[in-house]
Amino acid sequence: STSFALYYQERKRERVARQFEARPIELRSDEVTKGVTGLIGNTPLVRINSLSDALGIEILGKAEFLNPGGSVKDRVALRMIDDAERQGLLHPHTGSRIFEGTVGSTGISIATVAKARGYLATIIMPDDVAQEKVQALQALGAQVERVRPASIVDKKQFVNLARERAKNFGLEDSFSNQHLTVPRGHLLPSPSSSVLVSTAATDALGEEGTVTAPHEEEALRTKPRGFFADQFENKSNYDAHFEGTGPEIWRQTNGRLDAFVSGAGTGGTIAGIGRFLKSMDEDVKVVLSDPDGSGLYNKIKHGVMFDRREAEGTKRRHQVDTVVEGIGINRLTKNFQLALPILDDAYRISDAEAVSMSRYLVQRDGLFIGSSSACNLVACVKLAKKMGWKEGQTVVTILCDSGSRHYSKPRNDDYLHKANIPIDPHIIEDLLSQP
Ligand code: PMP
Repeated sequence: STSFALYYQERKRERVARQFEARPIELRSDEVTKGVTGLIGNTPLVRINSLSDALGIEILGKAEFLNPGGSVKDRVALRMIDDAERQGLLHPHTGSRIFEGTVGSTGISIATVAKARGYLATIIMPDDVAQEKVQALQALGAQVERVRPASIVDKKQFVNLARERAKNFGLEDSFSNQHLTVPRGHLLPSPSSSVLVSTAATDALGEEGTVTAPHEEEALRTKPRGFFADQFENKSNYDAHFEGTGPEIWRQTNGRLDAFVSGAGTGGTIAGIGRFLKSMDEDVKVVLSDPDGSGLYNKIKHGVMFDRREAEGTKRRHQVDTVVEGIGINRLTKNFQLALPILDDAYRISDAEAVSMSRYLVQRDGLFIGSSSACNLVACVKLAKKMGWKEGQTVVTILCDSGSRHYSKPRNDDYLHKANIPIDPHIIEDLLSQP
């Protein structure tokens, strides 16, 4: 019966592989790319030799740190800006400004694409984010505003403030905004201004509506626009992964993978890739790696983000200076909601585990990656152990960014000492040697 199961599995793989042939994707080639955006995406998969050899399975990382803006978020920034252009929300070289609330990576990606396309960028971020991200943003010419970390219900929280700034941008313009193509329910025209503010893809899955008043078109072309990118709620984020990263992974593994592991900051990565892979082969496990202080693990395991007993002893992410940046949230964003129905499992990863993994990888593999990537790899190991996988299985994860974005935190012993995070070189060895 085992051989029959194998036969069946093989036929299934062939079937999904054929299905996939119909959707060709571009691979990196010898061509000269047209500007910096041509460098985004089509990243290679790298075998994590140390972990793969120790476990007897294949642990593969999608090398997203190779994107020109340094992270997986380049894909999302490009897609959000492309989609906004298609909707007439941005016009190059006319003072159009993109606003975003971000812990950094998305801001850097938006600033990169904005410069390449002739837009201005205003980035609002919490003030405890690693300094090197602020420096990168400033080098890219973005306007940066840093605010105290706050709960999402607080008006001064960075995402809320970015929405507010976008709403107020160009408010002095008095003509109506009735002539733009507006995806119904997705965009909120602010009263008496030309500014359109995306209120999120709360309704982004709804249909489009169009109203036109052509006589105002000329005026509009020359007026500044504010576009709130809204990565947490904007479905373009999910689409970038469902149509880009997911198909790339499928193709690069020839559809031979047993699990996909990812953290969630907005949820776009895990939802988009996860759903694409499941659509190709429902047996691929989609697994969340969730850092300390995030509510998602609890939501998946127990149905609630924070239960009262735990909340007393556990600080939420905006209340602590988080060492793992970019993943972990305490609300269900629209993008993460798309992942909820397809998640098979979740692992909570401690800061100490993430920090140890990032150091282990430098030592063993010469791979200098960021803390969210390290968190993902800890979850890969835990998953393999729990499943009892020892031979031949393939687990794919995302290497979101490089360690060079993290000198001031996970690479900084003083910082770790003050944050009470132990640096124990044996944590990963112990994890790997568990039965
Ligand atoms: N890692 C890093 C370093 C990030 O900045 C982000 C984005 N916030 C992620 C992982 C998570 O990706 P996503 O937003 O798609 O969940």
